[in-house]
Amino acid sequence: MTVLVTGGAGYIGSHMVLALAEAGENVVVIDNLSTGFSSALPEGVPLFIGDAGDETLVENVLAQHDIETIIHFAGSVVVPESMRDPLAYYRNNTMATRGLLNAAVRCGVRRFIFSSTAAVYGNPEQMPVPEEAPTRPLSPYGSSKLMTEIMLHDVAMAHGMNYVVLRYFNVAGADPQARIGLSTMGATHLLKIAVEAATGQRAKIDVFGTDYPTPDGSCIRDFIHVSDLAQAHRAALTYLRTGGRSTTLNCGYGRGYSVLETIEAVRQVCGRNFAVHHSKRRPGDIMTMIADTGRIRSVLDWTPQYDDLATIATHALAWEEKLAQHHVSGALAAIA
Ligand code: UDP
Repeated sequence: MTVLVTGGAGYIGSHMVLALAEAGENVVVIDNLSTGFSSALPEGVPLFIGDAGDETLVENVLAQHDIETIIHFAGSVVVPESMRDPLAYYRNNTMATRGLLNAAVRCGVRRFIFSSTAAVYGNPEQMPVPEEAPTRPLSPYGSSKLMTEIMLHDVAMAHGMNYVVLRYFNVAGADPQARIGLSTMGATHLLKIAVEAATGQRAKIDVFGTDYPTPDGSCIRDFIHVSDLAQAHRAALTYLRTGGRSTTLNCGYGRGYSVLETIEAVRQVCGRNFAVHHSKRRPGDIMTMIADTGRIRSVLDWTPQYDDLATIATHALAWEEKLAQHHVSGALAAIA
């Protein structure tokens, strides 16, 4: 029995593939390498380069590899980009998943784990936000994921599939052994920007808004370590394999840190100072986003290992330092 991971060469997907490989699972990957890197895959894991929505490709992979479960990460994830080019998001997220599901149904795949997002909630009235909160996404990114959730639900009902939808909060950090991490150039996420500033790759970090009605005026987020997130998927896999019913689960720790606290954590672990500018609010930002984790903790057998901001910052920094060294040695090699 084999697990198919789409987007397995990307940031979160590659941590998933590593976790599966370390657990002795058979795993194959489909990734179009638009933002992923084949070097992020453990040796020996088959990679099929192409789109997760390419039904011919997917059907070939499903037929060749006796796939029992699909874990679907492939997609586009940048909120501001989705505002500029919504159709790209409906294509890469919603339509691609339609193709993937069509192939899965035709080939009789019975289990599906889907990467969704807290962005489906929009600006929630209740905090921490529970899964049953109204879904009112504020971006095409959130809408494209919500549409996929709805489609998956309908397909599962019609075709006897079971699924787990995992709604991610703020994913951060890197493999504790610094084998893989977030390598995408031009990433916009807070922790990534902070460790780039800490390693001297950018001159400063802007804090987008210090006038929110929060204790220190900056926004609050629930950061989850990417390796804990991968283990949550493994727990979801076990849940489905043992007959668990389709469900939707928040994936966070249920605890919020402010933007300023997060930057301070990076400063503490790196031991260096870097410039922090207080800037105006970023349009579309939600003030506070914290997961109600009651359901995931009761449904899955999942115990987070890295529920600590300093640990997340330490791992993110270690990976960034490794990445920066690669860039320098790559540049030197190019000169030589
Ligand atoms: N943020 C910031 N400076 C940055 C990047 C992000 O102040 O350079 C803030 C952003 O405004 C938000 C929080 O950090 O309040 C988390 O943003 P991110 O883009 O990491 O994730 P999001 O919660 O938007 O998905």
